[in-house]
Amino acid sequence: MDLYEYQARDLFEAHGVPVLAGIVAQTPEEAKAAAEKIGGTVVVKAQVKVGGRGKAGGVKLAKSADEAYEHAQAILGMDIKGHTVHRVMIAQGADIAEEYYFSILLDRAQRNYLAMCSKEGGVEIEQLAEERPEALARVAVDPNTGVDAEKAREIAEKAGFTEDLDQLVEVFQTLWTVFQKEDATLVEVNPLVKTGEGKIIALDGKVTVDENAAYRQPGHADLVDEQTEDPLEAKAKENDLNYVKLDGQVGVIGNGAGLVMSTLDVVAYAGEAHNGVKPANFLDIGGGASAEVMANGLDVILGDDQVKSVFVNVFGGITSCDAVANGIVKALEILGDTASKPLVVRLDGNNVEEGRRILDEANHPLVTIADTMDEGADKAAELANK
Ligand code: GDP
Ligand code: MN
Repeated sequence: MDLYEYQARDLFEAHGVPVLAGIVAQTPEEAKAAAEKIGGTVVVKAQVKVGGRGKAGGVKLAKSADEAYEHAQAILGMDIKGHTVHRVMIAQGADIAEEYYFSILLDRAQRNYLAMCSKEGGVEIEQLAEERPEALARVAVDPNTGVDAEKAREIAEKAGFTEDLDQLVEVFQTLWTVFQKEDATLVEVNPLVKTGEGKIIALDGKVTVDENAAYRQPGHADLVDEQTEDPLEAKAKENDLNYVKLDGQVGVIGNGAGLVMSTLDVVAYAGEAHNGVKPANFLDIGGGASAEVMANGLDVILGDDQVKSVFVNVFGGITSCDAVANGIVKALEILGDTASKPLVVRLDGNNVEEGRRILDEANHPLVTIADTMDEGADKAAELANK
């Protein structure tokens, strides 16, 4: 789960990372009150889970509370790269002398943690990494020892710092504490600034916490933002379904994450021959595909206006194909008129003949049976393009 900047700021503060005052606001009035409370120059910052807010006009300096009100009014409701701004953070203004970059992340490819640091922060780091990779220090971090004083010094020196080393070492170690204690997979500070007074401060934070650690991070439940959660994903979550919305037209249901992943690939490939239609979602209904689970899954997928057809790709194992076929037939009964889009069903595996017989017999007008995964994907893509 990605956190908002204000949530990252709060976590930083709780763990002792130097930050400036920041108050979240949902209306221009709240923004004005926050600016009065903080006093002096403030920065009105759009709270969206996407970078480059500054360039998009979502970060504005305000010299007075009235100006903060006006900026908040302009920024709230703004669209930044497809994200609507529902909140702003009113942050205490900083006197910036220099902007740096620092991050710690889970390096999946290396099966390790990685710290990255640069004296050239504030800019888009992907761009820096591409154009001037030598300006971005990359230091592997052993999970057993983490970022201790020695490692922190190594990172700072590799990034080319010769001054402020004691302060930087302290800040890097504290950011490691955030990373470790919060079960994060990313802690990024861009910019990490040096103020006119020579103080190092985390001015913008991006934190991703690992949802697999939710069981030991009870506080993280409060960080979930229901307001901007995708309504279909929220509905799926309520029904305990593993659903991820994608940007396509062919709804996909399968059992087992591996099978669903490959179904997405096969549908995307088949779609190339049908006007470029794409898979609309990931949905794994798991092993015990009861009629109810199937109905819930179909209900979520059919609630996606972009979906034009659905591909049900099931491999019968412990739950045999006849049980799945009965599940589909019953699900269509449960859904009644809600089921209004064509369904392509491919069954294989345990008791496949009986499963197909059940579907044949039900002879539902929306259902087409496919023999293979490729054929099913092609048919579903064709129907989505009609
Ligand atoms: P991002 O564009 O979404 O990464 O948002 P940031 O929080 O990183 O802000 C973008 C830029 O705005 C920073 O790199 C700074 O140059 C500038 N900025 C942010 N806060 C302040 C501030 O308090 N004072 C000044 N002078 N500039 C700021
Ligand atoms: Mn930034």
